[in-house]
Amino acid sequence: MLNNSEFRKQAHQFVDWMADFLENIEELPVKSQVMPGEIIDQLPISPPLEPESMDTIFHDFQKIILPGITHWQSPNFFAYFPANSSYPSLLAEMLTATLGAQCMVWETSPAAAELEELVLNWIKKMIGIPENFHGVIQDTASTATLTALLTAREKISSYRINEKGFDDKKFRVYCSSETHSSIEKGVKIAGLGKENLVKIEVDENFAIQTEKLEKAIIEDIQNGYIPVCIIASIGTTGSTAIDPLKPLGEIAAKYKIWLHVDAAFAGTALILDEYKWMIEGIEQADSFVFNPHKWMFTNFDCSAYYVKDKDALLNTFSINPEYLRTKTAGQVNDYRDWGIQLGRRFRALKLWFVIRNYGINGLQEKIREHISLAKEFELWVDENEDFELITPRTLSLVCFRYNPSGIKNEEAINQMNEKLLHSINSQGKMFLSHTRLNGKYTLRMVFGQTNVERKHVSRAIKIIGQTSKMI
Ligand SMILES: *Cc1c(COP(=O)(O)O)cnc(C)c1O
Repeated sequence: MLNNSEFRKQAHQFVDWMADFLENIEELPVKSQVMPGEIIDQLPISPPLEPESMDTIFHDFQKIILPGITHWQSPNFFAYFPANSSYPSLLAEMLTATLGAQCMVWETSPAAAELEELVLNWIKKMIGIPENFHGVIQDTASTATLTALLTAREKISSYRINEKGFDDKKFRVYCSSETHSSIEKGVKIAGLGKENLVKIEVDENFAIQTEKLEKAIIEDIQNGYIPVCIIASIGTTGSTAIDPLKPLGEIAAKYKIWLHVDAAFAGTALILDEYKWMIEGIEQADSFVFNPHKWMFTNFDCSAYYVKDKDALLNTFSINPEYLRTKTAGQVNDYRDWGIQLGRRFRALKLWFVIRNYGINGLQEKIREHISLAKEFELWVDENEDFELITPRTLSLVCFRYNPSGIKNEEAINQMNEKLLHSINSQGKMFLSHTRLNGKYTLRMVFGQTNVERKHVSRAIKIIGQTSKMI
């Protein structure tokens, strides 16, 4: 077991390792190339009886663990959506871990509660969320969406389900067929039933068809269902499609339905004035979530959740309901009552470090740069006769496929693209992922990793082009 002076020495060595690692990360295979079971087979089945030295443990970390890591912080990582990080974020995490504070209520660390309030107010201004929304940090967008669904359920049932459990009322939740899987998961966990999640058809841009939504709501009401919540996606995971918030807000207001906005990835782009149109109509929404841990250079996990009706949130999650509580002098926020978990990490610190160290200008510059790299890649796809765009680009995700002339069979094209994807990823030089859009096997390239530059894009283009010739 380490004492303080050994900890100091070890920590210095680790920091050197961390800086070296990040400096040389591009030399490592982006996607881990290990086989299933390869890591666990190298590790002892039982924990050690006697203390082991940090040298031995760290040696195993490097030799056994590291090969099983996919390098999300590599600028050659173009898959999924990024889980990016940055130096200020990392430094703050070191401090957070050192403080080891459990920030469940104001008293258990007043600075954590107050910094959380402040930083989320900053972000509210940065991204254009109205003043009357209240922010709280959740671990993930999945949790924030579940929080929204539970709050909507409780508000519409006058907080009865929390008290009495479900009666025979039947509820309905609406989203588009392109909505993230976390919504379905949330609906199941909230006890609303997967069958009561109504997935509305999308238009040619993969955004929800609002007339079809309204029709479904009217039909459901006629059939005795109670509509609880509409989920709007600002930036779907498949193709960053943008649901039209204004008409959705009008429908939600007309039928008194909670409107939750999921902008998990795209939310960061709202710091750019030229993308504020994406949430035009946000005043009509009831809640909003985006993940600084995706594109705002704040390492996982950190999800910013905003809710308009704070009382509804507190009445749903307070251990003592709001109406029984005494007002604490100074009006403190006890964030245990703002979500599911009791215990909370001090997540606001890393967000504060990132925003201060980049400045709004620095953040905007990065996001603009990423979008312009995506534009360049899109242009390459568009001009290359063997490749085609599957849907127009909105932000920094390009959806495309290999489609050389002469092949007409859709299934053959799908198989070719699947083969191309695996062939690219198995080289370890870059990592991209896929989705299916209108039945087409679609390659997804996201330009959002903190350190991605033009040279990485040029290299990726070369790898994709060369690999496509070999399949
Ligand atoms: C990534 C993503 C989520 C899930 O985010 P977590 O923070 O991992 O729960 C939800 N919605 C959309 C649109 C996403 O892209």
